[in-house]
Amino acid sequence: MLQTRSGKRTAAAAVKIAVDMEKEGLIDKKTAVTRLEPSQIDQLLHPTFDPEELKKAVKLTKGLAASPGAACGKIYFHAADAVDAAANGEKVILVRLETSPEDLAGMVAAEGILTARGGMTSHAAVVARGMGKCCVSGCSEIKVNEQNKTLEVAGKVFKEGDYISLNGSMGDVYEGQIKTIMPGLSGDFGTIMKWADEIRTLKVRTNADNPRDAQQAVEFGAEGIGLCRTEHMFFDDERIPAFRRMILSDSEEERREALSFLLPYQKADFKGIYEVMGDRPVTIRLLDPPLHEFLPHTDEEMEILSKQIDIPFEKIKKKTLELHEFNPMLGHRGCRLAVTYPEIAEMQAEAIIMAAIELKKEKGMEIIPEIMIPLVGLEKELAFVKKTVVETIEKCFEREGVTLEYLVGTMIEVPRAALTADEIAKEAEFFSFGTNDLTQMTFGFSRDDTGNIIKEYRDLLIFEEDPFQTIDRTGVGKLVEMAVKLGKQTRPAIKLGICGEHGGDPKTVEFCHNIGLNYVSCSPFRVPIARLAAAQAVVKADREHTSDK
Ligand code: PEP
Ligand code: MG
Repeated sequence: MLQTRSGKRTAAAAVKIAVDMEKEGLIDKKTAVTRLEPSQIDQLLHPTFDPEELKKAVKLTKGLAASPGAACGKIYFHAADAVDAAANGEKVILVRLETSPEDLAGMVAAEGILTARGGMTSHAAVVARGMGKCCVSGCSEIKVNEQNKTLEVAGKVFKEGDYISLNGSMGDVYEGQIKTIMPGLSGDFGTIMKWADEIRTLKVRTNADNPRDAQQAVEFGAEGIGLCRTEHMFFDDERIPAFRRMILSDSEEERREALSFLLPYQKADFKGIYEVMGDRPVTIRLLDPPLHEFLPHTDEEMEILSKQIDIPFEKIKKKTLELHEFNPMLGHRGCRLAVTYPEIAEMQAEAIIMAAIELKKEKGMEIIPEIMIPLVGLEKELAFVKKTVVETIEKCFEREGVTLEYLVGTMIEVPRAALTADEIAKEAEFFSFGTNDLTQMTFGFSRDDTGNIIKEYRDLLIFEEDPFQTIDRTGVGKLVEMAVKLGKQTRPAIKLGICGEHGGDPKTVEFCHNIGLNYVSCSPFRVPIARLAAAQAVVKADREHTSDK
């Protein structure tokens, strides 16, 4: 044989070939799981464009392939309009300069999301991946005028209600409608995933903050929740006024009053998630984003809020200006919120524990909540918040006459926490590496603003990979490895995971296996990818070990 070349194949074909070859005794299961590219699995889980229609389609521009799949619909520029249009049975593409947690309902209603700004870990990208929804972000050639409701691209102007189509797997934006085809999960795919589960040692959890996503992830094989971001739960129409009232409070007493209104909602959220997850572990993170993200931005919205919560417009405006931060991602967020307003952490800890206690009483469920404190950089900071959490939980136990097991741990996402992980581990029962923030802070690259710079760096081969997608082993990875070693020195049985976007990236999964993490956590649609990548990491490590001998 003089020359060979591997035959190109679709994901479905690769699965069939691998399973058939194993059945025929040509390869073993370990080899079979290496015959499918983890990134190809996406083809099996998301809609794609009809290839015949795609041939005729007019491509307008290209942005970042932020969340895979294909989608087509009428464009809307505001979340509320998207929700209304979807309620009228229209297929919707939400077009924004960038999204924020306020746009969540519009994102849920949309088939796909297109943003002019933002990188691979911008709000739009992360949330869309979480929902398994197609998203093209950082599309710098488009001009979005949210006020006039127009989208300008390739010399054409699109108005509200015009059709466009998006390919989130490639980052392509097309004019008009292109038919999409739904995926079909074949039996062979199930077989190969079963083999992957038999081989892998790394657990795979999911990032989910509602029962729907949790259910989807369980169907994809998630073994727990590694990150439940609680902030999304406050944007619901019924809750946001109370949350805003809490932010605008002048005293602790007023804050507590608003929080007591939110407590039953939070508890119900957690009960819903625990019920879906059953005996699988659930890690819930305390509130993380800067508070001004929750406040209205325009005078018009402030007027509406003023009437809703009976607080003068001037006061809302003044407080919003006070809360403004030049670098919000380095500002008043994460555990710093719980240090300055411990009553927020108290409410959340109570909701987390009471949800578990009620399910124990009502259904005999034995839930072991894992409470995660974000953005810690100092042992004392963690100790301070942990004390609030533990004291609140003890009070619940006493009042209810019930106790249950629980863990308190932290995210490692500030470089100082990684460098001092031996100290942090005195307080933390688990570490979860928040590699989105850890990458941002290690490189000093804003995760929300540097999509274009990273693209140029990649074109110039300064970066081989986008460090917000695949972990930078040399720098960020070194901090992670250091923290693993230091954490184990203090607490040999410490539980270790990763919950940044990297947790669903095959190369990062391999790295996590090699450095001895217990689990990776990723958005529901990336769970099968991570399961396969974890199995491949075992096979690769075995082969390297054998060839070393
Ligand atoms: C992270 O920083 O990696 C993380 C998971 O938290 P978030 O993306 O919510 O900041
Ligand atoms: Mg973070």
